[in-house]
Amino acid sequence: MPHVTMYTTTVCAFCLRAKSLLGQKGVEWEEINLDEHPERRKEMIQKADGRRTVPQIFVNGRGLGGYDDICALDKEGKLDSILEMDPEKIAPPITAHYRVLILGSGPAGLTAAIYAARANLNPVLVDGNEPGGQLTITTEVENYPGYADGVQGPAMMDDFRKQAERFGTQFIQGQVEKVDLSNRPFTVCLEKGDCFTVDALIVATGASAKWLGIESETRLRNRGVSACATCDGFFFRGKPLAVVGGGDTAMEEALFLTNFATKVSVIHRRDSLRASKVMQQRGEKNEKIEFVWNSVVEEVLGNEKDGVTGLKLRNIKNNEVSTLPVEGMFVAIGHVPNTQIFKGQLEMDDLGYIKVNSGSTYSSVEGVFVSGDAADSVYRQAVTAAGTGCMAAIDAERWLAIQEMN
Ligand code: NDP
Repeated sequence: MPHVTMYTTTVCAFCLRAKSLLGQKGVEWEEINLDEHPERRKEMIQKADGRRTVPQIFVNGRGLGGYDDICALDKEGKLDSILEMDPEKIAPPITAHYRVLILGSGPAGLTAAIYAARANLNPVLVDGNEPGGQLTITTEVENYPGYADGVQGPAMMDDFRKQAERFGTQFIQGQVEKVDLSNRPFTVCLEKGDCFTVDALIVATGASAKWLGIESETRLRNRGVSACATCDGFFFRGKPLAVVGGGDTAMEEALFLTNFATKVSVIHRRDSLRASKVMQQRGEKNEKIEFVWNSVVEEVLGNEKDGVTGLKLRNIKNNEVSTLPVEGMFVAIGHVPNTQIFKGQLEMDDLGYIKVNSGSTYSSVEGVFVSGDAADSVYRQAVTAAGTGCMAAIDAERWLAIQEMN
């Protein structure tokens, strides 16, 4: 057995995901929770070659990186041998037929699972590469009905999952690599080679955080560039930080980061926020937050050893270029729908959101139902995702009943 060490923090969705992946492989690890052992933060940064994000995973002292890195290794088929897994114990790819397969484990997918399970459809749910979806990287959710005092996003998704499990949903960890929707039953294959045939497919693949797309952002990712304040804010105690974006996510990230930072500069490309009034007011009232209007990030300054040292900004009104000294940049500029694998098979709009028939979850292919952010560029709320997840399960149930009658 190799010696696996994982540095984590208490509220860290990517740590949970990494643990879930290693757990499924039957690997044990030593966990060093940096909230409980803040004195070991420096040790981690040093061992991880300057990385300031959790989790950081080491196998026999060799740094593998974070959750995304071990996922990439797994996808390339290299993780099992690094973890010294017995080739005989590695499960061979499976094939199976399911009546209802749900793709995605955010509020839409899990609600679809609850309804489909209660309708005795024996649903099977494929987690995707962000188990729990976007809510697992958010902080407090205050607008989901039923939680009078608010709830932490990860805790809420845990509740959804337990409820789906209670009614018998079967969960598969994995990422879908390709689908064939040209014939029924449909075929869905995971990246590891498992392939399923499916009578009804519920797509709830959600959306993922967008990045600015500049070279320096990619180079310094995990070294001061992040898209998750709740995961990584901890590393920036006593430092000046920047948040890019003007929506609710940007406000939420900025407010959370004021718990650690000396100052948080919100860099927005316009001169007014898109965020809801209540979040705007909270941001404006917070003395640690300052707004840098009409500005875009041209370059993230710094290097891989020292991390981020500043941002080169350009004012888009007068083209003036300035340097903002910060030690971390949190990107919060919205999301892209995770629908690439359906391109050419399901009708979509120009931004990649899947088209559904008005008032239902029926897609352009009979038997494929779409819920949540994958089909919603307008509302994008946990409660609307859950609502359309429920609709998708009901649509699938009724559609299957008609098919089975004929
Ligand atoms: P939004 O799409 O609402 O906002 C994205 C922001 O990023 C906008 O201000 C946009 O500018 C800016 N932006 C987009 N692309 C770029 C770019 N390339 N460079 C610079 N800036 C860019 O996304 P959010 O993630 O903030 O919110 C998504 C949804 O989730 C919303 O419906 C929101 O209400 C909801 N949400 C609710 C929360 C809550 O209620 N607690 C918390 C978080 C999100 P511009 O304004 O110019 O378009």
